[in-house]
Amino acid sequence: MTESPATRCGFVAVLGAPNVGKSTLVNLIVGSKVSIVSPKVQTTRNRIRGIFIKDSVQVVFVDTPGIFEPKRKLDRAMVSAAWQGAGDADAIVLLVDSVKGVDDETARIVTRLQERNMKVIGVINKIDLVAKPALLKIAEKMTASGCFSEIFMISAQTGDGVGDLVDTLTGLMPESPWLYPEDEIADTPLKVWAAEITREQLYLQLHQELPYAATVETESLTEKGNTSIEINQVIYVERPGHKGIVLGAKGSRIKLIGSRARAELEKLLERRVHLMLFVKVRKNWAEDPELFKSWDLDPNA
Ligand code: GDP
Ligand code: MG
Repeated sequence: MTESPATRCGFVAVLGAPNVGKSTLVNLIVGSKVSIVSPKVQTTRNRIRGIFIKDSVQVVFVDTPGIFEPKRKLDRAMVSAAWQGAGDADAIVLLVDSVKGVDDETARIVTRLQERNMKVIGVINKIDLVAKPALLKIAEKMTASGCFSEIFMISAQTGDGVGDLVDTLTGLMPESPWLYPEDEIADTPLKVWAAEITREQLYLQLHQELPYAATVETESLTEKGNTSIEINQVIYVERPGHKGIVLGAKGSRIKLIGSRARAELEKLLERRVHLMLFVKVRKNWAEDPELFKSWDLDPNA
């Protein structure tokens, strides 16, 4: 009789400035398993982006939302939680956009990591867009910072180099039972999950103007036969002025958010999606202490 190998499981925090390709990379690695995880196990501290399973190893990718400069109380709590989340991780990956190199935002993240003595795996992404000598320059600069234990060059778009990165990450996971049994991973209340997708697009489009001051709730989700799904969602904002920001001129913003979210939903659900978005004002929810509690955040951060 052969003994089955001990299971291993751990968290990988994916850091990087906006648009470096974090989502693209995680989506590529975890495939359709992205975000399909029961929200009951999610906290803001470790927002789960996806789970990768290979043989006896489970790798849980977590988002560290908003490492950008916090302004309001809630933002500060979020950022503080994000850094704690990174500290709890078994591996930290910092993505760098090879077109931009080590820009100010990335340099700031590196500084914070150095302050915390965190060793990081550097990943230079979008190598399909940049010539080799320029890539080597970026790698040199990263090596000089002393912050990186290893540096990979990848294209999250083409998949180039991603296999080696995944092997390394898998190798770093500690011996541990799986935190998310395979059959639980697909067990998602679709409504919550669909709201997350829209919320992500909302942040992508608006995070500078409207950091965290919006939530999304799915009011209804109706399957129309086997071929399409109708989803109605409400975006709640804090102030009447925010409503205009979300809508944009002649509704252009909300249209864009809606079409991006719909495309994402269609990709993940493999079905046509009719997405209806409404914007409503719900006052001061972002200062509500109950909310901090329900998100596992420290209101005094
Ligand atoms: P995030 O904000 O860090 O999550 O970045 P995203 O994953 O949303 O990617 C931002 C943009 O960069 C998207 O338009 C991606 O398609 C694009 N992108 C990501 N990775 C690559 C890559 O390796 N090559 C190219 N050419 N584009 C990429
Ligand atoms: Mg993203």
